[in-house]
Amino acid sequence: MKITVEMPNVSECQVSECVYNLEQACHARAITVGDGVKPGCDTYFKAGSHVKRASEIAGVGACKVNGCQYNDDFECQAANIQVGFAGDSIDCLTFSPR
Ligand code: SF4
Ligand code: SF4
Repeated sequence: MKITVEMPNVSECQVSECVYNLEQACHARAITVGDGVKPGCDTYFKAGSHVKRASEIAGVGACKVNGCQYNDDFECQAANIQVGFAGDSIDCLTFSPR
């Protein structure tokens, strides 16, 4: 079954050690952001290898950070997002508090 939905793209991700990262881009089908308060990338996964397919650019499937101005009903409404390092965290860098 193929499901087509409009999602904001992850336009860039700095986290090169993540399984889904190839050349500063995320290739998961969709990521989930946030733990309710902080905008961390919930889909981050470190392992000894990377995905082989680089054709798909990830979308933002869900975001639990209702305190972000781009969040509407626990979905992201930004045009696209960037993910990277914020201190020790791996965060959505597009997060902007209301
Ligand atoms: S956006 Fe998240 S899942 Fe995608 S490559 Fe970056 S850290 Fe990994
Ligand atoms: S921009 Fe805001 S609403 Fe969109 S994924 Fe990042 S934290 Fe969530």
